[in-house]
Amino acid sequence: MIRFFYTCSECNREYEIRPNRMLCPECAIKQSSDEPLRGILDVMLDGRIANPEDPFAFLPVEKKYYPSVPLEPTPLWQSERLTDKTGFPHLYLKDETRQLTGSLKDRASLLVAAFARREGIREIAVASTGNAGSSMAGIGAAAGLKITLFLPKTAPRAKMIQALQYGARVIPVDGNYDRAFDLSMAYSKKNGILSRNTAYNPLTIEGKKTVSLEIFHQLGNTPDIIFVPVGDGVILSGVYKGFRDLKEQGLTDRIPHVVAVQAKGSDAIAQALENGSFTPVAACTLADSISVDIPRNGYAALKHLKENKGSCVTVTDDEILKAQKELASTSGLFAEPAAAASYAGFLKIKDTIPKDKKVVLLITGNGLKDTGTAQKGIVFPSQAISSPEALDHD
Ligand SMILES: *Cc1c(COP(=O)(O)O)cnc(C)c1O
Repeated sequence: MIRFFYTCSECNREYEIRPNRMLCPECAIKQSSDEPLRGILDVMLDGRIANPEDPFAFLPVEKKYYPSVPLEPTPLWQSERLTDKTGFPHLYLKDETRQLTGSLKDRASLLVAAFARREGIREIAVASTGNAGSSMAGIGAAAGLKITLFLPKTAPRAKMIQALQYGARVIPVDGNYDRAFDLSMAYSKKNGILSRNTAYNPLTIEGKKTVSLEIFHQLGNTPDIIFVPVGDGVILSGVYKGFRDLKEQGLTDRIPHVVAVQAKGSDAIAQALENGSFTPVAACTLADSISVDIPRNGYAALKHLKENKGSCVTVTDDEILKAQKELASTSGLFAEPAAAASYAGFLKIKDTIPKDKKVVLLITGNGLKDTGTAQKGIVFPSQAISSPEALDHD
């Protein structure tokens, strides 16, 4: 028998997994307004998993509750041209652009949707910079759930349109993601509605761990290094969690080296790893999915990085745009800016990495989600032609 339960990432108190249990109440009362969330809960797993090749066997909700969408692993693939260009023969792309709604966020949305169905819950509220919302909207549509989404009015248009196509109730917020977070929390509390806010709902962290389980099975072992784009630090914790589960189940004896890649203009976690404490930043980066003032999962992410000797690298917007274009034009994989940050971080430090290492780049979201920013990295053709003579061969 497998037993799943929560423990507090700060004080280790145990709790049952219930819809109204989000944070550790003992630690959450210490919360001040300008710091990461206090009392984040971790899903723990007790017992031996009978079929460890199935990532869903590691999750606290039974498979029958998931909506009927493809649950197969996303591709882990090698680009011959990218290998030639970088000189790394064991460089892999974990292609999350191929998720149903185009980003890694589907892993969390799937678990939250399945949990809602098991518990008989009909509505979910979420604040998002774009992807968490469009993901919850799409997965929620497939699961027959009502989704209420709080989105900064400056969110990339495509992500908002995506959510509306999925039939979500979209509430634009006059303010940034932090404001949207607060408004969605107020809505959830007032109306007793399940929140899918990232980090706050522990299942958002837990759901993302399946990316590590898939990588492990696809490679046949644990990679040496994984590059992870980091905003709130939830994907980062999910990646570590997956390998920790594999280790506890005796399937691997090591955790990969994780490189957290942050935008220079939104680098609270990188700063905290250096200084030991969090100071809020006024986030400013064109990679909207990793643009946060206060990383909600900051404390847990920092703890994971310290305990496992992970590292951080920061990249400028210019480096992100260049990496986005280079990745697309070399491999055929068009990543959104936050996702291309993985490749930008790799380019930045690759001279320090031995060439024989197995390196995985997490490509977390699809480039078509934010064409406005992608346009900044290319030269748009200025003239249309109407006759063959008007065209020179270049
Ligand atoms: C959400 C997101 C990230 C960052 O994840 P965090 O958990 O906030 O660190 C990176 N890339 C993409 C495409 C995302 O949607």
